[in-house]
Amino acid sequence: MCQVSALRRIRGFSFHRRTFAKILSSRCVLDSPLLSFTSRPVRAFYSDRFVLPLPDGHRFPMQKYRMLRDAVADVLPSVSLEEAPHTSDGVLALAHHPHYIHRVTSGALSDAEQKAIGFPWSPEMVERSRRSAGATIAACRAAIMAGTAVNLAGGTHHAQSDRGEGFCVFNDAAIAARLMQAERRVSRVAVVDLDVHQGNGTASILATDDSVFTLSLHGENNYPFDKAVSDLDVALPDGTDDDSYLAQLASALSQMFERFSPQLIIYLAGADPHEGDRLGRLKLSMAGLAARDRMVFDAARTRGLPVAVAMAGGYGRVIDDTVAVHLQTVSIASSYCSAGLETA
Ligand SMILES: [Zn+2]
Repeated sequence: MCQVSALRRIRGFSFHRRTFAKILSSRCVLDSPLLSFTSRPVRAFYSDRFVLPLPDGHRFPMQKYRMLRDAVADVLPSVSLEEAPHTSDGVLALAHHPHYIHRVTSGALSDAEQKAIGFPWSPEMVERSRRSAGATIAACRAAIMAGTAVNLAGGTHHAQSDRGEGFCVFNDAAIAARLMQAERRVSRVAVVDLDVHQGNGTASILATDDSVFTLSLHGENNYPFDKAVSDLDVALPDGTDDDSYLAQLASALSQMFERFSPQLIIYLAGADPHEGDRLGRLKLSMAGLAARDRMVFDAARTRGLPVAVAMAGGYGRVIDDTVAVHLQTVSIASSYCSAGLETA
């Protein structure tokens, strides 16, 4: 283990590059029958230039975002990397209370509020949160034009309308869904949340909104322990493996499309159902997670629906594993990015 750490320190990114290139040349991705469908580069929006100053030893893996962008640039050259735009207070207010937005942006959050979020307040925290929401907004607009687009961060699904929690300040999916409706790009949106933690903030913000369907597949024993009510919740027991997970996902997607006809899917492709995750409690393999991603994209493609992807959580015991899961999702998203889909 010491040797591996030393190699990482000495060789730096070249170590990761070989790791990720090996993953992308594995069966998981190359078996995709849809690679040949690619007709334009997928757009991926990043915000990792806006890094939070965190205390030493902080458990949030902030470096994964830079590692992911570097890996995408290095092994997926066809992906178009673009810096995420800033999100204004007015747009944030589509999903958040103005008093909460003001407390965040002016540095007036109480100690208890900062503790619930899990990050100390800083101007960088505000800017990063604005950019992360901006990346999901940009990915939604791009997906509506091209079929698929990606936010290399986002999926901050624990943020509530009047408070943040669980490393989430603003709820990017709820904001983006409402903005796409306000811009008259679509009228019905589905949030398909496959992060291992329940999308409680998204469910709460959109609880009375029939125009946005919230689906969450999550570990029943994971945070948040006091779950909200999504339009469709699937709570999975500890140790759920690939086959069980994929069967539950197929059933959930089928139920969702029976009940709701979305014109856009916002897909939270959390890396934390992976068997190597510190927090996840599930046992999905890399191949299982690739099959998960394809199941969502296939369901969307069959119906001619655009998909905007956000990375959401990932807390691997080995951070390379988390980055590899996210990278695999970006690669698969890229393989589904094709010429314009009419949705409005
Ligand atoms: Zn999570």
